[in-house]
Amino acid sequence: MTATITILGAGPAGLGAAFRAAQAGHQVTIVERAGRVGGLAGSFEVAGVMVDHGSHRLHPATEPHLLEELKRLLGEDLQQRTRHGRIYLEGRWIAFPLQTADLVRNLPPSFAIAAGRDAILSPLRKAKGDTFADLLLAGLGPTMCDRFYFPYARKMWGLAPEMIHGEQARRRVGGNAAGKLLRKLTGSGKAGGVFYYPRRGFGQIWEALAEAASRSGADVRLNTPVDRVEQCSGGLRVSAGAEQFESEFVWSTLPIPVLARLFQPCPDKQVLDAARRLRSRGMVLVYLVLGVGRYTEFDAHYVPQGFTPVTRISEPKNYRDGDDPADRTVLCAEIPCASGDGIWSTDDRDLGRLVGEALAGMGLPAVDPVEVVVKRVPAAYPVYDLGYSDCLEVLVEWSESVPGLLTLGRHGLFAHNNSHHALEMGWAAAAALGPDGGFDASAWSASAESFAAHVVED
Ligand SMILES: Cc1cc2nc3c(=O)[nH]c(=O)nc-3n(C[C@H](O)[C@H](O)[C@H](O)COP(=O)(O)OP(=O)(O)OC[C@H]3O[C@@H](n4cnc5c(N)ncnc54)[C@H](O)[C@@H]3O)c2cc1C
Repeated sequence: MTATITILGAGPAGLGAAFRAAQAGHQVTIVERAGRVGGLAGSFEVAGVMVDHGSHRLHPATEPHLLEELKRLLGEDLQQRTRHGRIYLEGRWIAFPLQTADLVRNLPPSFAIAAGRDAILSPLRKAKGDTFADLLLAGLGPTMCDRFYFPYARKMWGLAPEMIHGEQARRRVGGNAAGKLLRKLTGSGKAGGVFYYPRRGFGQIWEALAEAASRSGADVRLNTPVDRVEQCSGGLRVSAGAEQFESEFVWSTLPIPVLARLFQPCPDKQVLDAARRLRSRGMVLVYLVLGVGRYTEFDAHYVPQGFTPVTRISEPKNYRDGDDPADRTVLCAEIPCASGDGIWSTDDRDLGRLVGEALAGMGLPAVDPVEVVVKRVPAAYPVYDLGYSDCLEVLVEWSESVPGLLTLGRHGLFAHNNSHHALEMGWAAAAALGPDGGFDASAWSASAESFAAHVVED
């Protein structure tokens, strides 16, 4: 007995699910809006250089069985690299991930003394509530918060730290204990100072996975935007323009509010209200093509403070030993924003200028881009505002009430996560399918609970 499954979205979650379910002999169709696979973790070409949607690395925290599978699929193309980034903090450059000797050498002494004092006093502080501000102030103290984390949070989510749910601190920082944070920041925790990255851009991982899924029998449909999901006599029907796909199961990695809006019969008002209130943070990605072989030796520059809206600038060529052109390089600047706001609507040339100003403001070499390419991503990060968890609960409860429907992935479960977490979700969905083609909802619920422990690696 095999199951028939239509998977919506060919990002890491959808592809992981498609690969494993097809391998187990089920009939899988995966339907993707874009012209290539990988979703947010996919790559594309700018001036002959493969670039990502902002800085992407495969972290060593990836579950060993997933990492082994990816190594098997990519072979030597999946390179192990040493991290080589830095943070711009109060006019100085600090190595990132942090290193003790470098911190002692480069951290402004007033900052180091105050942060050290806060760390010693941390057992005496208690969180006053469950907001991002409460948890980080209790765990880290005012120095790291006021001079590092809070300005970054304002740029990143467009909210005051007091208006961000405590879950954001848990997902991003992994708890509120100063020791935990320090271990994470200094790379002496699980992540270490290395990462994995493929020769031809981060998206090569997902292209390899899509090929493996196809070889196992999955039908991968690109350029197929889903516009309707409805119940029918055979289970569920997915429509994408004139095309229709009927199956017993639909596994959606679309943003859960989008899924609720395109579902028929239309969910009730409470569900649609929740879908309206759950917000995602957008991102403008600005790619500067430079007529030089290399801009700096660093893979990424992190910019937490508020003098520019840019949060990170990466140089994709420095993530790999690849076949990149020798006479040019591309910089990728990440600017979080809300879809439709001032940054979102700024024209491409002015965005290029804004990135040039950010570089100059940090004392980096002046740039004269040959070309500026801009990509606008309406949903890059789930926003954990104070009301988000109630809305999410309503939406998940609704999706669970529809027989055969499952929602997973970063935006499907509104989880601020990494691609290896999304992949794990796909793997878990397929594992919940029995050999008789039935879906074990309790096995899936147990996995879904474990996803709450995912902590984002930067
Ligand atoms: C700036 C930035 C940096 C990041 N850095 C890292 C990193 O260093 N390491 C890491 O591991 N992760 C990183 N991530 C996270 C990673 O990108 C995500 O965790 C991962 O892409 C989530 O995979 P997913 O399959 O859940 O969702 P997505 O990648 O969002 O895939 C969803 C898919 O659904 C498709 N879709 C949407 N609507 C429709 C529709 N109507 N019809 C058909 N298809 C549709 C989309 O086109 C997309 O392909 C980063 C994310 C961002 C924003």
